[in-house]
Amino acid sequence: MIVGERKPFDEIKEMVQDHKKIMILGCGTCVAVCMAGGEKEVELLAAQMRLAAKLDGKNVEVMEDTVTRQCDREYIEPILEKARECDAVISMACGVGVQLLSDLIEEIPVYPALNTRFIGTNEVEGVWLERCMMCGDCVLGKTGGICPIAMCAKGLVNGPCGGTNKGKCEVSNEKDCAWTLIYRRLEKQGKLDNIREIFPPKKYGLHVNPIRQVNEAYLHAEMEEHHG
Ligand code: SF4
Ligand code: SF4
Repeated sequence: MIVGERKPFDEIKEMVQDHKKIMILGCGTCVAVCMAGGEKEVELLAAQMRLAAKLDGKNVEVMEDTVTRQCDREYIEPILEKARECDAVISMACGVGVQLLSDLIEEIPVYPALNTRFIGTNEVEGVWLERCMMCGDCVLGKTGGICPIAMCAKGLVNGPCGGTNKGKCEVSNEKDCAWTLIYRRLEKQGKLDNIREIFPPKKYGLHVNPIRQVNEAYLHAEMEEHHG
């Protein structure tokens, strides 16, 4: 899932200081799970905003809402009318949700309440770990299901480096060496030979933003449906 963290309150407050009617819009998926932008966090931020306005002697109306997924038109279309009645929206979604909402209500500024951090897993309660850097050419099939790019401090596709030390990473003693983890996982799977394979460097230079993905099968099915 996408992991985000809330920006400091003062930063959010400053972004919307000129607005009088503000909607705070949460997202009920990834950022709700990582406790950054779900319904509860919307409630908390709204309470902070109202209190700050009161202390500053400002008359600010704060509305609250949370949609299932802010990165999906289907879920945000029903709240657009309400959003257009405001003079600003504070989005508590990841950067994708903020942008889609902004595309749909262009005349109303949408401000991000979160910093979008990474794609990761929930390790234990309250702790998330980056697991994928979206390289577009996944090697997990060869590395025992452990990503060398996200999990290795140097993102080495061929490891370990000379700094690996008793299973720990030279960058931090608190961090497991990704390539030791990969070695141990491959050992368990009887696939240690994989570690001899030399992977070519990742061709990041060929990666032109923004990436667009088209599902031809889906498009054909849609066309057939329309043309009967
Ligand atoms: S190799 Fe790592 S960064 Fe690349 S797609 Fe797979 S999990 Fe993601
Ligand atoms: S010690 Fe291991 S995890 Fe750390 S940079 Fe070297 S190969 Fe990567």
